[in-house]
Amino acid sequence: QVKRSRRQGGHLEESSVSVSLHRSTRTNDIVARAIRGNRLSLAFQPIVSIERGSIWAFEALVRYVDPELGPISPPSLVARAKSLGLMNELTQQVITKALEAAEQFRRLEPDIDCMTVNIELGQISEAELGPFIRAAAAAHPDIRLCIELNERSLRSVTDDLRRDAEAMQEAGVIIALDDYGSDDSPVGALVRFPMNILKIDKSLISDLEDVRQREVIRALQGFGDNLQHTVVVEGIENRAMADVLVELGVRDAQGYYFGRPLPLAQTLDRIRRSSTQATLRR
Ligand code: C2E
Ligand code: MG
Ligand code: MG
Ligand code: MG
Repeated sequence: QVKRSRRQGGHLEESSVSVSLHRSTRTNDIVARAIRGNRLSLAFQPIVSIERGSIWAFEALVRYVDPELGPISPPSLVARAKSLGLMNELTQQVITKALEAAEQFRRLEPDIDCMTVNIELGQISEAELGPFIRAAAAAHPDIRLCIELNERSLRSVTDDLRRDAEAMQEAGVIIALDDYGSDDSPVGALVRFPMNILKIDKSLISDLEDVRQREVIRALQGFGDNLQHTVVVEGIENRAMADVLVELGVRDAQGYYFGRPLPLAQTLDRIRRSSTQATLRR
Protein backbone atom coordinates (compact mmCIF):
# COMPACT_ATOMS: atom_id res chain seq x y z
CA GLN A 1 0.00 0.00 0.00
CA VAL A 2 2.83 2.33 0.83
CA LYS A 3 4.27 1.47 -2.55
CA ARG A 4 1.06 2.32 -4.37
CA SER A 5 0.42 5.66 -2.70
CA ARG A 6 4.00 6.78 -3.20
CA ARG A 7 3.82 5.97 -6.90
CA GLN A 8 0.49 7.76 -7.29
CA GLY A 9 1.93 10.84 -5.61
CA GLY A 10 4.66 10.70 -8.22
CA HIS A 11 6.63 13.60 -6.77
CA LEU A 12 8.89 11.84 -4.34
CA GLU A 13 12.48 11.20 -5.09
CA GLU A 14 13.62 7.62 -5.49
CA SER A 15 15.72 7.78 -2.29
CA SER A 16 12.89 8.92 -0.01
CA VAL A 17 10.63 6.25 -1.47
CA SER A 18 13.09 3.54 -0.62
CA VAL A 19 13.77 4.99 2.84
CA SER A 20 10.09 4.96 3.79
CA LEU A 21 9.56 1.53 2.28
CA HIS A 22 12.52 0.31 4.25
CA ARG A 23 11.15 1.77 7.47
CA SER A 24 7.75 0.24 6.93
CA THR A 25 9.23 -3.18 6.15
CA ARG A 26 11.34 -2.95 9.28
CA THR A 27 8.31 -2.11 11.44
CA ASN A 28 6.48 -5.04 9.88
CA ASP A 29 9.39 -7.33 10.74
CA ILE A 30 9.35 -6.07 14.32
CA VAL A 31 5.60 -6.58 14.61
CA ALA A 32 5.86 -10.07 13.12
CA ARG A 33 8.56 -11.02 15.62
CA ALA A 34 6.58 -9.58 18.54
CA ILE A 35 3.51 -11.59 17.56
CA ARG A 36 5.37 -14.83 16.84
CA GLY A 37 7.45 -14.41 20.01
CA ASN A 38 4.31 -14.05 22.17
CA ARG A 39 5.52 -10.61 23.25
CA LEU A 40 2.35 -8.55 22.89
CA SER A 41 0.96 -7.19 26.11
CA LEU A 42 -2.43 -5.93 27.20
CA ALA A 43 -3.89 -2.90 28.87
CA PHE A 44 -7.15 -3.28 30.78
CA GLN A 45 -9.84 -0.62 30.97
CA PRO A 46 -12.75 -0.96 33.42
CA ILE A 47 -16.40 -1.08 32.38
CA VAL A 48 -18.50 0.14 35.28
CA SER A 49 -21.98 0.40 36.66
CA ILE A 50 -22.32 4.14 37.28
CA GLU A 51 -24.93 3.87 40.07
CA ARG A 52 -23.18 1.13 42.00
CA GLY A 53 -19.80 2.71 41.33
CA SER A 54 -18.36 -0.73 40.69
CA ILE A 55 -16.43 -2.50 37.94
CA TRP A 56 -18.11 -5.50 36.31
CA ALA A 57 -15.82 -6.04 33.31
CA PHE A 58 -12.51 -5.10 31.77
CA GLU A 59 -11.79 -4.52 28.09
CA ALA A 60 -8.43 -5.97 26.99
CA LEU A 61 -6.59 -3.65 24.59
CA VAL A 62 -3.50 -4.87 22.75
CA ARG A 63 -0.20 -3.08 23.42
CA TYR A 64 3.30 -3.39 22.07
CA VAL A 65 6.25 -1.21 22.99
CA ASP A 66 9.35 -1.83 20.91
CA PRO A 67 12.65 -1.13 22.67
CA GLU A 68 13.81 1.00 19.71
CA LEU A 69 10.66 2.27 17.98
CA GLY A 70 8.63 2.89 21.14
CA PRO A 71 4.90 2.14 21.33
CA ILE A 72 3.10 1.01 18.19
CA SER A 73 -0.56 2.06 18.23
CA PRO A 74 -3.21 -0.69 18.36
CA PRO A 75 -4.76 0.26 14.99
CA SER A 76 -1.30 0.14 13.39
CA LEU A 77 -0.53 -3.21 15.06
CA VAL A 78 -3.81 -4.62 13.82
CA ALA A 79 -3.33 -3.30 10.26
CA ARG A 80 0.17 -4.75 10.11
CA ALA A 81 -0.91 -8.08 11.58
CA LYS A 82 -3.60 -8.25 8.90
CA SER A 83 -1.22 -7.54 6.05
CA LEU A 84 1.26 -10.06 7.47
CA GLY A 85 -1.42 -12.76 7.73
CA LEU A 86 -0.89 -12.88 11.51
CA MET A 87 -4.26 -11.59 12.68
CA ASN A 88 -5.41 -14.93 14.09
CA GLU A 89 -2.13 -15.31 16.00
CA LEU A 90 -2.57 -11.80 17.44
CA THR A 91 -6.16 -12.50 18.47
CA GLN A 92 -5.40 -15.88 20.03
CA GLN A 93 -2.60 -14.34 22.06
CA VAL A 94 -4.86 -11.51 23.23
CA ILE A 95 -7.67 -13.91 24.21
CA THR A 96 -5.33 -16.28 26.06
CA LYS A 97 -3.68 -13.49 28.03
CA ALA A 98 -6.97 -11.71 28.68
CA LEU A 99 -8.57 -14.83 30.15
CA GLU A 100 -5.56 -15.51 32.37
CA ALA A 101 -5.85 -11.95 33.66
CA ALA A 102 -9.61 -12.33 34.12
CA GLU A 103 -9.06 -15.31 36.43
CA GLN A 104 -6.78 -13.17 38.58
CA PHE A 105 -9.25 -10.26 38.65
CA ARG A 106 -12.14 -12.53 39.64
CA ARG A 107 -10.11 -14.09 42.44
CA LEU A 108 -9.65 -10.61 43.92
CA GLU A 109 -13.17 -9.42 43.24
CA PRO A 110 -15.86 -12.00 42.33
CA ASP A 111 -18.15 -9.31 40.86
CA ILE A 112 -15.63 -8.77 38.06
CA ASP A 113 -16.48 -11.81 35.99
CA CYS A 114 -16.55 -10.45 32.44
CA MET A 115 -13.59 -9.97 30.06
CA THR A 116 -14.08 -8.35 26.70
CA VAL A 117 -11.75 -8.54 23.68
CA ASN A 118 -11.83 -6.94 20.24
CA ILE A 119 -12.02 -9.07 17.14
CA GLU A 120 -12.64 -8.45 13.50
CA LEU A 121 -16.09 -9.54 12.38
CA GLY A 122 -14.86 -12.00 9.74
CA GLN A 123 -12.72 -13.79 12.31
CA ILE A 124 -15.65 -15.48 14.03
CA SER A 125 -16.23 -17.53 10.88
CA GLU A 126 -12.66 -18.61 10.36
CA ALA A 127 -12.07 -22.34 10.60
CA GLU A 128 -9.29 -21.81 13.12
CA LEU A 129 -10.47 -18.93 15.26
CA GLY A 130 -14.16 -19.76 15.71
CA PRO A 131 -13.45 -23.06 17.50
CA PHE A 132 -10.54 -21.43 19.39
CA ILE A 133 -12.86 -18.81 20.88
CA ARG A 134 -15.52 -21.34 21.84
CA ALA A 135 -12.88 -23.61 23.44
CA ALA A 136 -11.35 -20.66 25.33
CA ALA A 137 -14.76 -19.75 26.73
CA ALA A 138 -15.39 -23.37 27.75
CA ALA A 139 -12.00 -23.58 29.48
CA HIS A 140 -12.94 -20.62 31.72
CA PRO A 141 -16.51 -21.42 32.84
CA ASP A 142 -16.48 -18.77 35.59
CA ILE A 143 -15.55 -15.95 33.24
CA ARG A 144 -18.00 -14.42 30.81
CA LEU A 145 -15.96 -13.94 27.63
CA CYS A 146 -17.24 -11.14 25.42
CA ILE A 147 -16.13 -10.41 21.86
CA GLU A 148 -16.49 -6.86 20.58
CA LEU A 149 -17.26 -6.61 16.90
CA ASN A 150 -16.64 -3.34 15.22
CA GLU A 151 -19.67 -1.72 13.70
CA ARG A 152 -17.67 -0.75 10.58
CA SER A 153 -17.46 -4.35 9.48
CA LEU A 154 -21.20 -4.87 9.87
CA ARG A 155 -22.04 -3.46 6.49
CA SER A 156 -21.48 -6.89 5.06
CA VAL A 157 -23.40 -9.15 7.43
CA THR A 158 -24.25 -12.34 5.59
CA ASP A 159 -26.53 -15.16 6.72
CA ASP A 160 -23.44 -17.29 7.33
CA LEU A 161 -21.91 -14.67 9.58
CA ARG A 162 -25.12 -14.31 11.50
CA ARG A 163 -25.25 -18.08 12.03
CA ASP A 164 -21.64 -18.12 13.24
CA ALA A 165 -22.36 -15.32 15.68
CA GLU A 166 -25.40 -17.15 17.00
CA ALA A 167 -23.30 -20.30 17.43
CA MET A 168 -20.92 -18.21 19.56
CA GLN A 169 -23.79 -17.05 21.73
CA GLU A 170 -25.02 -20.62 22.14
CA ALA A 171 -21.51 -21.54 23.32
CA GLY A 172 -21.84 -18.90 26.03
CA VAL A 173 -19.82 -16.15 24.35
CA ILE A 174 -21.22 -12.65 24.77
CA ILE A 175 -21.34 -10.45 21.69
CA ALA A 176 -20.93 -6.69 21.83
CA LEU A 177 -21.52 -4.31 18.96
CA ASP A 178 -18.54 -1.93 19.33
CA ASP A 179 -18.23 1.74 18.41
CA TYR A 180 -21.87 2.17 17.45
CA GLY A 181 -22.38 5.68 16.13
CA SER A 182 -18.86 6.19 14.82
CA ASP A 183 -18.69 7.31 11.18
CA ASP A 184 -22.24 7.00 9.92
CA SER A 185 -23.34 3.75 11.53
CA PRO A 186 -26.39 2.40 9.73
CA VAL A 187 -29.46 1.92 11.91
CA GLY A 188 -29.81 -1.38 10.06
CA ALA A 189 -26.83 -2.73 12.00
CA LEU A 190 -29.00 -2.65 15.11
CA VAL A 191 -31.53 -5.05 13.60
CA ARG A 192 -29.23 -7.23 11.51
CA PHE A 193 -26.81 -8.57 14.04
CA PRO A 194 -27.15 -10.76 17.14
CA MET A 195 -25.83 -8.91 20.18
CA ASN A 196 -25.93 -8.84 23.96
CA ILE A 197 -24.14 -5.54 24.54
CA LEU A 198 -24.42 -2.30 22.59
CA LYS A 199 -21.37 -0.06 22.96
CA ILE A 200 -22.01 3.52 21.99
CA ASP A 201 -19.03 5.31 20.49
CA LYS A 202 -17.62 8.42 22.09
CA SER A 203 -18.36 10.46 18.96
CA LEU A 204 -22.07 10.27 19.85
CA ILE A 205 -21.43 12.09 23.14
CA SER A 206 -18.98 14.68 21.80
CA ASP A 207 -21.40 17.54 22.50
CA LEU A 208 -24.02 16.67 25.08
CA GLU A 209 -25.38 20.21 24.94
CA ASP A 210 -26.79 19.26 21.56
CA VAL A 211 -30.36 18.13 22.17
CA ARG A 212 -30.21 15.71 19.24
CA GLN A 213 -27.20 13.90 20.73
CA ARG A 214 -29.02 13.62 24.03
CA GLU A 215 -32.17 12.25 22.44
CA VAL A 216 -30.22 9.70 20.36
CA ILE A 217 -28.58 8.41 23.55
CA ARG A 218 -31.93 8.26 25.34
CA ALA A 219 -33.44 6.37 22.38
CA LEU A 220 -30.55 3.88 22.16
CA GLN A 221 -30.74 3.25 25.91
CA GLY A 222 -34.48 2.59 25.50
CA PHE A 223 -33.75 0.23 22.61
CA GLY A 224 -31.33 -1.71 24.82
CA ASP A 225 -33.66 -1.74 27.81
CA ASN A 226 -36.61 -3.06 25.79
CA LEU A 227 -34.52 -5.86 24.32
CA GLN A 228 -32.45 -6.73 27.42
CA HIS A 229 -29.23 -5.58 25.77
CA THR A 230 -26.72 -3.93 28.08
CA VAL A 231 -25.86 -0.45 26.79
CA VAL A 232 -22.33 0.77 27.53
CA VAL A 233 -21.45 4.36 26.67
CA GLU A 234 -17.75 4.79 25.81
CA GLY A 235 -15.48 7.80 26.12
CA ILE A 236 -16.81 9.45 29.29
CA GLU A 237 -14.05 11.81 30.33
CA ASN A 238 -15.49 13.85 33.20
CA ARG A 239 -18.12 14.09 35.90
CA ALA A 240 -20.30 16.52 33.93
CA MET A 241 -20.66 14.06 31.05
CA ALA A 242 -21.46 11.23 33.46
CA ASP A 243 -24.17 13.33 35.16
CA VAL A 244 -25.92 14.17 31.87
CA LEU A 245 -25.78 10.54 30.75
CA VAL A 246 -27.27 9.27 34.02
CA GLU A 247 -30.16 11.69 33.51
CA LEU A 248 -30.71 10.16 30.08
CA GLY A 249 -31.00 6.69 31.62
CA VAL A 250 -27.46 5.43 31.00
CA ARG A 251 -26.27 2.93 33.63
CA ASP A 252 -23.09 1.35 32.27
CA ALA A 253 -20.03 3.19 31.11
CA GLN A 254 -16.39 3.20 30.11
CA GLY A 255 -14.00 6.10 29.79
CA TYR A 256 -11.03 7.96 31.24
CA TYR A 257 -13.25 9.39 34.00
CA PHE A 258 -13.83 5.88 35.37
CA GLY A 259 -10.38 4.58 34.55
CA ARG A 260 -7.74 4.64 31.85
CA PRO A 261 -6.40 1.44 30.31
CA LEU A 262 -3.58 0.15 32.57
CA PRO A 263 -1.13 -2.76 32.42
CA LEU A 264 -1.83 -5.97 34.36
CA ALA A 265 0.10 -5.18 37.57
CA GLN A 266 -1.49 -1.75 37.96
CA THR A 267 -4.92 -3.18 37.21
CA LEU A 268 -4.49 -5.73 39.99
CA ASP A 269 -3.51 -2.87 42.34
CA ARG A 270 -6.56 -0.90 41.32
CA ILE A 271 -8.86 -3.84 42.04
CA ARG A 272 -7.21 -4.44 45.43
CA ARG A 273 -7.67 -0.78 46.35
CA SER A 274 -11.33 -0.66 45.33
CA SER A 275 -12.12 -3.94 47.13
CA THR A 276 -10.69 -2.54 50.34
CA GLN A 277 -12.80 0.57 49.95
CA ALA A 278 -15.95 -1.50 49.42
CA THR A 279 -15.18 -3.54 52.54
CA LEU A 280 -14.66 -0.39 54.58
CA ARG A 281 -17.98 1.00 53.42
CA ARG A 282 -19.77 -2.16 54.52
P1 C2E B 1 -12.08 0.41 20.92
O1 C2E B 1 -12.35 -1.05 20.96
O2 C2E B 1 -13.26 1.31 20.71
O3 C2E B 1 -11.35 0.73 22.31
C1 C2E B 1 -11.50 1.92 23.01
C2 C2E B 1 -10.40 2.90 22.69
O4 C2E B 1 -10.79 4.18 23.20
C3 C2E B 1 -9.07 2.55 23.38
O5 C2E B 1 -7.99 3.03 22.59
C4 C2E B 1 -9.16 3.39 24.67
O6 C2E B 1 -7.92 3.71 25.22
C5 C2E B 1 -9.86 4.63 24.16
N1 C2E B 1 -10.60 5.32 25.22
C6 C2E B 1 -11.17 4.76 26.32
N2 C2E B 1 -11.77 5.69 27.07
C7 C2E B 1 -11.57 6.88 26.46
C8 C2E B 1 -11.96 8.23 26.78
O7 C2E B 1 -12.61 8.54 27.78
N3 C2E B 1 -11.59 9.20 25.89
C9 C2E B 1 -10.87 8.90 24.77
N4 C2E B 1 -10.54 9.91 23.95
N5 C2E B 1 -10.49 7.64 24.43
C10 C2E B 1 -10.84 6.63 25.28
P2 C2E B 1 -6.83 2.05 22.11
O8 C2E B 1 -6.41 1.15 23.22
O9 C2E B 1 -5.81 2.93 21.48
O10 C2E B 1 -7.50 1.14 21.01
C11 C2E B 1 -7.96 1.70 19.81
C12 C2E B 1 -8.71 0.67 18.98
O11 C2E B 1 -7.81 -0.37 18.56
C13 C2E B 1 -9.80 -0.07 19.76
O12 C2E B 1 -10.95 0.72 19.82
C14 C2E B 1 -9.97 -1.31 18.91
O13 C2E B 1 -10.80 -1.05 17.79
C15 C2E B 1 -8.54 -1.57 18.41
N6 C2E B 1 -7.94 -2.64 19.22
C16 C2E B 1 -7.32 -2.55 20.41
N7 C2E B 1 -6.90 -3.76 20.85
C17 C2E B 1 -7.27 -4.65 19.89
C18 C2E B 1 -7.14 -6.08 19.75
O14 C2E B 1 -6.62 -6.79 20.61
N8 C2E B 1 -7.66 -6.63 18.61
C19 C2E B 1 -8.28 -5.89 17.64
N9 C2E B 1 -8.77 -6.50 16.58
N10 C2E B 1 -8.42 -4.56 17.74
C20 C2E B 1 -7.93 -3.94 18.85
MG1 MG C 1 -13.61 -2.28 21.83
MG1 MG D 1 -15.14 0.71 21.45
MG1 MG E 1 -14.50 3.46 20.25
